[in-house]
Amino acid sequence: MSESTSRKKSGFLEFDLHPKVQRAIDEAGFEEPRPIQAACIPAVLEGDDVLGLAQTGTGKTAAFVAPILDILLDDPLPGPRALILSPTRELAMQIHKDVETLAKFSDVKSTTIYGGVKQDRQVTALRGKPDIIVACPGRLLDLMEQGHVDLSRIEILVLDEADHMFDIGFLPSVRRIIKELPKDRQNLLFSATMPREIRGLADQLLHKPHVAELAHSSPADTIEHAVFAISGPKKTELLRWVLSEEGFKSAIVFCNQKFRAKRLAEQLSRWGHHAVALQGNMTQGQRDRAMNGFRNGRYDVLVATDVAARGIDVDHISHVINFDVPTTPDAYTHRIGRTGRSERDGKAYTFVAAADFMALKLIEMKIKQKIERREIPKMEVREEAIAKADAARPKRDPEPEPRMDEEERRSRPQRRRRSSGGGGGGRGHSSSGRPGRSSSGRSSSGRGRGRSSSGR
Ligand code: AMP
Repeated sequence: MSESTSRKKSGFLEFDLHPKVQRAIDEAGFEEPRPIQAACIPAVLEGDDVLGLAQTGTGKTAAFVAPILDILLDDPLPGPRALILSPTRELAMQIHKDVETLAKFSDVKSTTIYGGVKQDRQVTALRGKPDIIVACPGRLLDLMEQGHVDLSRIEILVLDEADHMFDIGFLPSVRRIIKELPKDRQNLLFSATMPREIRGLADQLLHKPHVAELAHSSPADTIEHAVFAISGPKKTELLRWVLSEEGFKSAIVFCNQKFRAKRLAEQLSRWGHHAVALQGNMTQGQRDRAMNGFRNGRYDVLVATDVAARGIDVDHISHVINFDVPTTPDAYTHRIGRTGRSERDGKAYTFVAAADFMALKLIEMKIKQKIERREIPKMEVREEAIAKADAARPKRDPEPEPRMDEEERRSRPQRRRRSSGGGGGGRGHSSSGRPGRSSSGRSSSGRGRGRSSSGR
């Protein structure tokens, strides 16, 4: 092995991951583990429950996917063995993609379950007994109720973006799903922020968790924040100026309402920008087209609402623009986490009307940072910059008419049901049936700890 190769691999080698996982990590170009990975991977491998408090873009997906794959590969058993719950379809697809990347050299199978599309293919995929299910709670619960899902072998549960699950009213569904899982399992809960409700869920769900708290709620250092005091139609003018600013590559523009996102995207398109909306009233197909178009550069402006855009991981987003001030400080953290990802630079601009300054104060308290107030620039849109970007871009598809989709309906608060938050109903699956990790010097004792069902 050459010196450069060994240096390349050295960071992840300390985890002693399964060679097939290590190979995929190398091929993905991950040289050094990110802090969240260094904090979580050993704990997950030990079989501990984990509470991961990490800002978005920190590499948290690989922090749970890599050790899960290692565990599954160590001891092949029939699936499904790992259940990853995601609040949105976009995030579920992204996690699935990351699973596929890291499972590339193994035969671990993963499938996604989410609403807004026909269920037939998902049912067929479930019949194939995938090892990993990445699911949105609404559709998963539907399929469970129809008897299409057997979760009796689940050994590891991951709740990703748990705070977002709460925001969109998914916690009751999550609790109902958890009730159907075996009591003896490993639980990993990831959340960028820790509202009281998530703290409560974590207390119920996690058994002596390893807590990995990284720069809790504080945005990446590489992000430059600025506030512009502006309101009304002037906002659109300022937005156009920002979109032609030096260093602009692509932007997510956040609006607080679906109709505003749709209208603003249309308006920007009429003015020659390559903009597309991503909001909850769109069908899955429309959302996919918007996301794919944004990912591959066909669109350079994604005008989104919070529901649609959390957890999105797209490279090279140079700007996040809060066209409307987010309604909670946590939403600010999530929104701006779309830029400055993977230690890249990014700009986070917030347009603040007079009535929003109180909300801004709360955001500043939360991120423990006073955001720079910027002068409104002389707004001459740099037409040449737009024209140049235009020439380099592929043509766009027409957008079909939006309609309400299922996840969006489900994102509305649902009837509440009392629940213990987990446990019960499982087959008492014991991890002691799995060989330990002695070959690599790790112990399986953590996973065979025979938990009590009380509140879990
Ligand atoms: P996530 O926070 O999981 O959405 O990850 C953000 C981005 O970081 C993704 O594009 C990952 O592929 C990338 N990433 C994760 N871990 C590493 C690593 N150790 N080295 C380089 N890139 C990474």
